[in-house]
Amino acid sequence: MRLVRLVANLGYGSQREVKGMVRAGRLTLADGTVLGEDAKVEHAEVRLDGEPLDPPQGLVAMLHKPAGYTCSTNDPGRIVYGLLPDRFQHRNPIVAPVGRLDRDTTGLLLLTDDGALLHRIISPKSSIPKTYEVTLDRPLTGEEGAVFASGTLLLKSENTPLLPAMLEPTGEKTARLTLTEGRYHQVRRMFAAVGNHVVALHRARVGGLGLGDLAEGQWRLLDPAEVALVT
Ligand code: URA
Repeated sequence: MRLVRLVANLGYGSQREVKGMVRAGRLTLADGTVLGEDAKVEHAEVRLDGEPLDPPQGLVAMLHKPAGYTCSTNDPGRIVYGLLPDRFQHRNPIVAPVGRLDRDTTGLLLLTDDGALLHRIISPKSSIPKTYEVTLDRPLTGEEGAVFASGTLLLKSENTPLLPAMLEPTGEKTARLTLTEGRYHQVRRMFAAVGNHVVALHRARVGGLGLGDLAEGQWRLLDPAEVALVT
């Protein structure tokens, strides 16, 4: 592919800006050969300031989302893109969150530029489990587990019951909840339906993938074996 188009599509800058990078000699091959504006290149051989480029299309990353950030591109407040390299938002296609976490939910947020993968994961037909650590306002009564597992719980203003979900109490006011669907504000609405209130919510796992030692506010790319754990 043409060098300028390749690098611009990865979000590093407009074509004009990338031409500026070329003129500054910042785009090279691995052996240091400086590339010209008209170069035709393979993605893997290009270096920018000596570093390999971001992966081509099919990039999947995870972010340890802190509270106070929205998953939107145009919220006037803090957005998750503020925690990621600017180029993720300018890539073509854009690197988008896979589903959304509420502003005050923390934890594992996947991001990808692969539309098919995104839809596969968030599709109502997908049964990829998502595990949340929940902190509640009031003590658990002991009855929530059976209600959530029943497959009959109907949320306010919906007419399809929720799929069975698994609740494991971890303390008087804390629990681990595993869902296989992702409806709007689902965890908060489930606890509201049983007369409680979620005061803190953290997504710990998606499919077989956890955050490991990724610190809050940090992100990293997933390797193909890790992508397989979430698809
Ligand atoms: N359920 C919620 O209520 N909020 C989230 O952010 C995720 C799941």
